Amino acid sequence: MTLATMARYEEARVQPIGDRAIVVGGSMAGLCAARILHDVVDKVVILERDDLPHGPESRGGAPQTSHPHAMLEAGRATLEDLFPGFSNDVLAAGGLELDMTRDIAWYDHGGVVAESATPLSALYASRPLFEHVVRERVRDTPGIRFREGCHFIDYQHDPASNRVTGVRFRDEKGTETALDAMLTVDATGRTSRTPAWLERHGYPSPDVDRVTVDVTYSTVCITRPPDAQRGVLIAPEPHRPRGAAMLPVEGDRWEVLLQGLHGERAPVDRQSFLDWADTLPMDDISTQLRDREWVSEIQRYPFPASVRRHYDDLARFPDGLVVTGDAVASFNPVYGQGMSVAALDALALHHELPRGIDGLGPRMFERVDDIVHEAWRTAVGNDFTFEQTTGPKPFATDLLNRYAGRLVARAHDDGMLTEAFLRVFRLERPATSLLYPRILWRVLSP
Ligand SMILES: Cc1cc2nc3c(=O)[nH]c(=O)nc-3n(C[C@H](O)[C@H](O)[C@H](O)COP(=O)(O)OP(=O)(O)OC[C@H]3O[C@@H](n4cnc5c(N)ncnc54)[C@H](O)[C@@H]3O)c2cc1C
Repeated sequence: MTLATMARYEEARVQPIGDRAIVVGGSMAGLCAARILHDVVDKVVILERDDLPHGPESRGGAPQTSHPHAMLEAGRATLEDLFPGFSNDVLAAGGLELDMTRDIAWYDHGGVVAESATPLSALYASRPLFEHVVRERVRDTPGIRFREGCHFIDYQHDPASNRVTGVRFRDEKGTETALDAMLTVDATGRTSRTPAWLERHGYPSPDVDRVTVDVTYSTVCITRPPDAQRGVLIAPEPHRPRGAAMLPVEGDRWEVLLQGLHGERAPVDRQSFLDWADTLPMDDISTQLRDREWVSEIQRYPFPASVRRHYDDLARFPDGLVVTGDAVASFNPVYGQGMSVAALDALALHHELPRGIDGLGPRMFERVDDIVHEAWRTAVGNDFTFEQTTGPKPFATDLLNRYAGRLVARAHDDGMLTEAFLRVFRLERPATSLLYPRILWRVLSP
């Protein structure tokens, strides 16, 4: 499912179903899920282990927040539906609205892609700012309460009715406590404990696909003249497993990111950072790194593998529980999909809630799997252009990669192909749209 193929948020579908829901995890997936649940229950409690900042700051519970985060159109449009005025709030806080190909030089398959045939605008801001804007909107929603500094321990369970009835957690004072709820959402990200819990309680636990990419990210922020709004994005390729990005964000800064795949370790000291930037096929990043002031430490994040948990295949799953966001699937971050998939997952919850709480998990997982399928195909499919990538390879990957490679190479001179490719990348359209006859002809013609 993509933005084009999934029904949008519809307030008219909403009906009250109960008193309390709990969301465990107050990051992007948890915030979006809480917003959806607020439509149908009196009280939503968000349990989060971090003390959440009141400004756009990165935080320990989600260490990836120190690294650049692309906001794809599927995510932006869905967040705008859930939080009307989201884009304006980001812009008012200093974010930028830029054209993805006119303002950002996109280097892929040996060249920069041509400007898109029609504008492809996108929001550019730091991840802490995106999260802050959403979090403050949730904070301002009566009926939603944050409980910060609270550590989830376990679900409460009634085996007789096959139902999760709430959670046990360590509260703000460190005391173990229990809270009942008619529905609990696991939005705890990659370290989710639901699979282990299912196994301990006699349920099948989901099969897992792991596709190993061994990515490291290193990021530093540098100053940016306010009128310099250009950015650069250099995709890693099999003969050069080094990628990079320099993205303009609020506060007159560029976030500069170096990515290494499959054993290429992105550097953590200044000189190695500069040396690495010198090896890139465009010199903008290296020039700006030398000319500008560095205003943050270099942060590094290792990301070993994309992970997909097949909750949709489970024969048995307790009522009163659903799982969302990275806890279901987390993707090689090079493709910038996680926040958008989290927002679409919340939309899946919105569409399934009117059919009731009983059987909600399996129904939602089916929809979520359709969402994940599309993002997974793009991300993991491309990862298999690197021969060191290991894991289950989706059907016809090599053939599709040859086609996509030719498409992107031709997009160096063809703005219609740039647009077709980026609308899939932005999770706006399904990958099958790249096979429309007018695209096929432009890719395959001699
Ligand atoms: C390096 C990197 C770069 C990325 N770049 C992009 C990008 O460009 N664009 C994009 O869209 N996505 C990107 N992502 C993915 C994105 O960060 C996630 O998909 C997004 O944050 C949604 O994740 P989530 O809310 O499911 O989980 P998380 O963001 O991991 O949040 C989980 C939350 O649960 C809390 N928690 C965990 N355990 C407990 C517990 N026991 N008790 C209480 N609270 C708990 C954590 O503190 C945290 O707040 C990137 C990821 C990485 C690693």
